[in-house]
Amino acid sequence: MNIYQTEQLETLLMVRRHFEGLPGSEIAALHDKIADYLAFRTDAAIFLESYFAPVCTASCYRSQISACCSKDGIITFFGDVVVNMLTSRADEVDRLERAIRSPESERKCIYLSQKSGCLWRVKPIVCEMFLCREARQQVFENRPDAMEKWGALERIKKGFTWPDKPVLFEVLERDFLRAGLSSPLMYIHTSPGLIRIRKNRKSG
Ligand code: SF4
Repeated sequence: MNIYQTEQLETLLMVRRHFEGLPGSEIAALHDKIADYLAFRTDAAIFLESYFAPVCTASCYRSQISACCSKDGIITFFGDVVVNMLTSRADEVDRLERAIRSPESERKCIYLSQKSGCLWRVKPIVCEMFLCREARQQVFENRPDAMEKWGALERIKKGFTWPDKPVLFEVLERDFLRAGLSSPLMYIHTSPGLIRIRKNRKSG
């Protein structure tokens, strides 16, 4: 396994172990914490299905190019792993573990399955919000309404992930850090750029 796989696997297993040891009341509290985010993800999925599915299916999926899903190219935030763990069945988490250990393709994302597509139940936010230039052009060219809706979704996304104020993805990292658990995927607490944004927030 390369470093990317190792980091993904260690984080997945750590979050799983931690949740297995938590009482039901704490798991329920975590579900409450992510409820608004899941509602946003449903809205984003509906938008993408309405406007982008026809374009992406024809140009990428049917031809099995899956150009967005490149090898080790996806930043997965710690918050992504937590949200996905909370919403996944045990067999789905097992499947992710197997995919990390033995990816189907050497040239594509480790989580991409030829048969089932992306193996995450709630895929990483970077993947959900990525629109390639060709698809953007095709969909937005004559649809200012669609572009406006997408802009609104991007603003909502920042409210969960961009730490210019305390955001969900930060809180999820902080909860684990306080429990003495850390991961290289906790970018909001480890990336110099994101740390700077948090610091400026405190001083500004
Ligand atoms: S995590 Fe899923 S959507 Fe994201 S690149 Fe991998 S297979 Fe594609």
